[in-house]
Amino acid sequence: MRITCVGGGPAGLYFSVLAKLADPSHEVTVLERNPAGVTWGWGVVFWDDLLDDLFKHDPVSAERIWESARKWDEYEVRATGKPVSHLAGYGFSLGRHRLLEILGERAAELGVQVSWSDELGDLAALPPADLVVACDGARSRIRESAAEHFGAEVEVASNKYIWLGTPHVFDTFTFGFEKTPAGWIWYHAYPFSGDKSTFIVECQPQTWSALGFDTLDAQQGTARLEEIFADHLGGQPLIDHRAEVGGTGWLNFRRVTAQRWDHGNVVLMGDAAHTTHFAIGSGTKLAMQDAMALASAISSGDPLPVALERYEHRRKAAMAPLQKAARASSAWFERLPEYADLPGKQFSYALSNRRGEYPAWRYLLHMTTQSRVPRTMLRWTLSARRSSRARRRPPLITA
Ligand SMILES: Cc1cc2nc3c(=O)[nH]c(=O)nc-3n(C[C@H](O)[C@H](O)[C@H](O)COP(=O)(O)OP(=O)(O)OC[C@H]3O[C@@H](n4cnc5c(N)ncnc54)[C@H](O)[C@@H]3O)c2cc1C
Repeated sequence: MRITCVGGGPAGLYFSVLAKLADPSHEVTVLERNPAGVTWGWGVVFWDDLLDDLFKHDPVSAERIWESARKWDEYEVRATGKPVSHLAGYGFSLGRHRLLEILGERAAELGVQVSWSDELGDLAALPPADLVVACDGARSRIRESAAEHFGAEVEVASNKYIWLGTPHVFDTFTFGFEKTPAGWIWYHAYPFSGDKSTFIVECQPQTWSALGFDTLDAQQGTARLEEIFADHLGGQPLIDHRAEVGGTGWLNFRRVTAQRWDHGNVVLMGDAAHTTHFAIGSGTKLAMQDAMALASAISSGDPLPVALERYEHRRKAAMAPLQKAARASSAWFERLPEYADLPGKQFSYALSNRRGEYPAWRYLLHMTTQSRVPRTMLRWTLSARRSSRARRRPPLITA
């Protein structure tokens, strides 16, 4: 089979590895617009479930990922005016650069042709292939070239965020919330190597404008963030890659959903098919699990259309609970000011239950029996749930 993957992110590179492992006679090419070793973003987090899957599918790359990953042991919550609290949980993190380096090397070892600095402008320009995998990210040009067929919808989240790095090595996964005269602004940070951490800053749009980020350039913007988060950064700077090329990295998260994932011999994979808000840190995992499912579907011996349909159904079903959790989690951060003035313990509790995993009755029972929570807290919880239900959904924009 001749397979062309457009996009050399985690989805495209990992799929190319698995396709070659499934059948070394497949001719697999990956086109990536960036030069080798160049990518966006910083470290990403993941958990045991991904590691288990990686070891099952390709122990060689799994071992390298495992060796390069950093483990963190709890969640720390720091918020203005509240004592520091610690929530149970652990996970792993790895620089996106390192992940792509491991996958790119593994692909090359298996005979995949990885063509760096090779941007696909037009689908018609592709050499003939039996299967074209569109793994060209959230703004997929291939998806957009047949937007009606794929039925892609993009929902734009209201909060502003920026993905930064810092040489400050956080002890563990840390959420930090600062109260400024313009409103609350917070970060999600975690170490991903011996000398770097990811530092994602988020705030409501009105806070963002009031703090001047709508007019500051990248350098001025990072300087302002360094001032705001000075107590959290141990004297270290924040790094915005965009500062080197002008512009700024502030964005609104775009939640992409595609109704259909295949069109003839073209199939969507990873962020090109669906994006998952970073508030639950799972987009890379889902992209790599798509790759596993697609590689297994095309190795089944079924005709291609059947294999592609099975892949799509399997993945949509598998990811539905996580997508739901991501929506709940990002919505919680959009309503942060409703929770931010709670006392420290209750605030951290609400943060840990932001995915809505614990049913309200269990949460309330725990709050009344296990801790000395005043009745006003119960009233607040019930009214917060009522007002969140009444809240309008964010606008839908059709891509
Ligand atoms: C702030 C933030 C934090 C995140 N943190 C985490 C986390 O902690 N854990 C986690 O699991 N996920 C995280 N994610 C999500 C994760 O980054 C994505 O879900 C993941 O990168 C998707 O992989 P992909 O291969 O589908 O797409 P991408 O990683 O976007 O790769 C697509 C590739 O296609 C290339 N490309 C695009 N167009 C073309 C073209 N026309 N021709 C050739 N090449 C092209 C691009 O250069 C890119 O390399 C985060 C996302 C954000 C925004």
